[in-house]
Amino acid sequence: MIDLRSDTITKPSKGMLEAMFKAEVGDDVYKEDPTVNRLEKRLADMFGKTHALFFPSGSMANQTAIKLHTNPGEQVIADKWAHIYNYEGGGASFNSGVSFKLIDGNRGMFTAEQVEASINPPDFYHSPLTSLVAVENTTNKGGGACWDFEELKKIRKVCDKNNLGYHLDGARLWNAIVKNDENPREYGKLFDTISVCLSKGLGCPVGSVLIGDEQIMKNAIRIRKILGGASRQIGYLAAAGLYAIDNNIERLKEDHKKAKALGNVLNKLPFIDKVEPIETNIIIFTINNDIHSTDFFSKMNQNQILLSDMGCKKIRIVTHLGYTFEQHNQLLNILDRI
Ligand SMILES: *Cc1c(COP(=O)(O)O)cnc(C)c1O
Repeated sequence: MIDLRSDTITKPSKGMLEAMFKAEVGDDVYKEDPTVNRLEKRLADMFGKTHALFFPSGSMANQTAIKLHTNPGEQVIADKWAHIYNYEGGGASFNSGVSFKLIDGNRGMFTAEQVEASINPPDFYHSPLTSLVAVENTTNKGGGACWDFEELKKIRKVCDKNNLGYHLDGARLWNAIVKNDENPREYGKLFDTISVCLSKGLGCPVGSVLIGDEQIMKNAIRIRKILGGASRQIGYLAAAGLYAIDNNIERLKEDHKKAKALGNVLNKLPFIDKVEPIETNIIIFTINNDIHSTDFFSKMNQNQILLSDMGCKKIRIVTHLGYTFEQHNQLLNILDRI
């Protein structure tokens, strides 16, 4: 099978498994797991922050961030395609009792002006109090698009002026950093909290980390406990994370190259209407009326290829660590013949 549904389907490599096998562990609920502590320190330093905390999922890291920045009844500004709004089970309202002001952005991104226009005046007590702006880099539903760093800086200014928290859902931040040759510290300077995922392009079986300075992070461990995310000897998982940071960040470029190559072939196919711009490892394309989407998927399945159906004739491909050059050439040939 050539499985391109998501970069979450990757399995640990032999090297990663060996690192896990050798991990020194302890009880992380007592904060006595040396490998977890090492991973947390490594990521905090990398982003120039004082604190980092390991989470079993990106959703839990984001949900914790929302809780840290808000009180019940308040409002979060995010793009209409945001993962925290669409794909975390309604957690923001369940866990934090907040609502969203959604921005009608472009491929999951928006402007500082749009943020400014979305803030409810704090003395107008009829409306929810705006307390947080959340952005996603790269954007998931936006097809792996990367933010313009200058726009992120402008939004920081709006947040400062209006006393708003600023959270980055960086599930695929690694892809943006590698693509644009950015320094994680620049992100650390800009955002109050950043969540990063270890289990997508980096290939770990489990894990996300929330990063921030002491003031905002001091309650994170309590919220993680409340959400049921405090675990014991998870140094085995942290070892996978450390291995991934050492070995799997730069190689994301390979995923990006493969995505571009696939995009070039898809762009030439007569039954494909539009391929969205490809910046990183996600390709979103729309098929036209010459082919029914069930026919397209069954044709793909006959060739042992798995893709994601986004509905409305939109299809998603995600390249990743487990997608080999051999599979890549095979797929390019199949697409050429189809
Ligand atoms: C995958 C993802 C998350 C976290 O998802 P989990 O499955 O909970 O780890 C968060 N934000 C974005 C943009 C994602 O793509």
